[in-house]
Amino acid sequence: MDLELTGKAALITGASRGIGAAAALALAQEGASVAINYLTSESEAQKVVESIRGNGGRASLFQADVSKADQVQAMVGAVLDEYKQIDILVNNAGITTHTGRIDGFGAEDIEKCMAVNVSGMLNCIQAVTPHMKSRRYGKIINVISFRAYATRYSSPYDISKAAALALTIEVASELAPFNINVVSISPGTAATDMNREKLLSDAKKLREFEAKIPLGRIAQPEDIANLICFLSSDRAKHITGTDILITGGEIFRW
Ligand code: NAP
Repeated sequence: MDLELTGKAALITGASRGIGAAAALALAQEGASVAINYLTSESEAQKVVESIRGNGGRASLFQADVSKADQVQAMVGAVLDEYKQIDILVNNAGITTHTGRIDGFGAEDIEKCMAVNVSGMLNCIQAVTPHMKSRRYGKIINVISFRAYATRYSSPYDISKAAALALTIEVASELAPFNINVVSISPGTAATDMNREKLLSDAKKLREFEAKIPLGRIAQPEDIANLICFLSSDRAKHITGTDILITGGEIFRW
């Protein structure tokens, strides 16, 4: 299937590592120009840019903290200066905290996750939508998590992801008349730095964990990047205001 992304420009937040980096590489491979946002991992982000350019693609770096509205406005302005358009926004930047019992975290932990996982998403949507509305075209893909559906232990991360899901659905209905699709995707556990310390660094633990997943594996970032590419294309033009689980059948409920 040709996704026909040549000539499109994508801004991917948190694209220095993990799922965001894989999405940037995959979108570039499909022909899109990609704006690589990062917060602190400049050298990793630079490697993503070099890899894309090495394959004949177009990519540039844009440093910004998505939780800061002024930095996001400046970043979107700089991307528009360089690419003249933003067709695709992938709201991927995210942080996690500990998971535990309700007496093990406080409002400040929730606020920390909300600042990036929800306000960061909102800041980026608000910054790109005037441009997308004026062109009556846009694809917004929000990377959430299957943990948005509430899991076994309480967690500030899960609470923020549930809020991000609500944000997706509400924004989608508002932007649909402007031919802007807004979709979220909810990965299960993926092989990224987010899970390195607690899971990936322990081969036995990882094997036992994967054995409990119906497909017998956790996601590779590329699995999720493939879905992002499809949703970034007009092949997915009838999909909006919904969430797509990509978990290998993994369920984390009690
Ligand atoms: P990761 O490997 O930990 O990478 C996180 C990325 O987000 C990095 O590029 C980081 O930038 C960026 N970032 C963090 N805070 C930021 C901020 N304030 N402004 C801009 N960028 C920021 O994460 P990942 O596992 O690829 O996760 C990507 C997304 O998928 C997240 O939203 C996460 O919640 C979601 N997700 C992950 C999993 C999983 O199992 N890994 C499962 C479900 C959903 P720097 O490195 O430059 O600081």
